[in-house]
Amino acid sequence: MIPGSFDYHRPRTIDEAVGLLADHAGDAFILAGGHSLIPMMKLRMATPEHLIDIQDITELSGITVGGDTIEIGAAVTQTQLVASEELASACPILRETSLQIADPQIRNVGTLGGNVANGDPGNDMPAIMQLLDAEYVLRGNGGVRQVKAREFYEAAYFTARDEGEILTSVQIPVPAAGHGYSYQKQKRKIGDYATAAAGVILSVTGGSCTSASIALTNVADTPLWAEAASNALIGSDLGPGAVNAAVDAARAITDPASDGRGPSEYRTHVAGIMVKRAIETAHARAA
Ligand SMILES: Cc1cc2nc3c(=O)[nH]c(=O)nc-3n(C[C@H](O)[C@H](O)[C@H](O)COP(=O)(O)OP(=O)(O)OC[C@H]3O[C@@H](n4cnc5c(N)ncnc54)[C@H](O)[C@@H]3O)c2cc1C
Repeated sequence: MIPGSFDYHRPRTIDEAVGLLADHAGDAFILAGGHSLIPMMKLRMATPEHLIDIQDITELSGITVGGDTIEIGAAVTQTQLVASEELASACPILRETSLQIADPQIRNVGTLGGNVANGDPGNDMPAIMQLLDAEYVLRGNGGVRQVKAREFYEAAYFTARDEGEILTSVQIPVPAAGHGYSYQKQKRKIGDYATAAAGVILSVTGGSCTSASIALTNVADTPLWAEAASNALIGSDLGPGAVNAAVDAARAITDPASDGRGPSEYRTHVAGIMVKRAIETAHARAA
């Protein structure tokens, strides 16, 4: 339960952090809130020789809500996501999801960047980023590039981020005004990761669903954007037939492990219930 020894670095700029990653290629980890990394180090599942603590890099903080795009710095904490009224007004599913992550103490230090860069299928924000079609901004020695959240996750703890890159921010297209939203998460107790969870955003015009996006947490090696399930809703009246078709399509792409949260079949069943509840709640909230 004691981590191996490491050198600790505390850069003040992104450039300095990128330089440190390059200097210690393969042996360095970014340290953000530490609430995923430190437990992994204690279990010796992560054994970095260099820790690059990003908490003093002010360029990584800040939430900007523009007309078309929301930009959130990687070091913004889950508590800061909850606290922003402007963000909650433009994209309320971010507050609803943040409030279902762990507990207040963890949310006070856990960052959005750490949550999405980690690659743990149990993290809640990656599915929400896929749902919203967000892009991750990555900076390395070679410059800046953007990767869609829907293309970022390769397997559990494997992502498209190169080891020399730091995730600097997340860019989210502002969802349509009046959209309905919901994140439904079943967990064994407060503070637990999901047995299964589902997020939905949708828009309704004249009783017909004009756009929909559905994503799932912790029912596969990666977060899942449920494209076929989303399409099952579009053009429908969101009645039982369309909801059941979306639930079936979402369940079909799950492949959860059997573990302490239940057997695989049970977790797939729960995923279907979460999808149904999320669609119904989002529908009820849509203006
Ligand atoms: C008891 C407990 C319960 C929890 N429950 C939940 C839960 O229900 N849902 C949930 O989503 N999370 C949960 N978490 C995890 C928590 O939300 C973490 O804070 C979060 O996943 C990681 O954020 P962090 O800032 O702590 O990152 P860290 O732990 O510091 O880093 C995590 C990983 O991401 C990398 N990283 C961090 N920032 C960057 C960056 N900017 N660029 C590149 N790489 C980076 C690190 O090198 C590391 O590999 C829980 C944690 C605990 C301890």
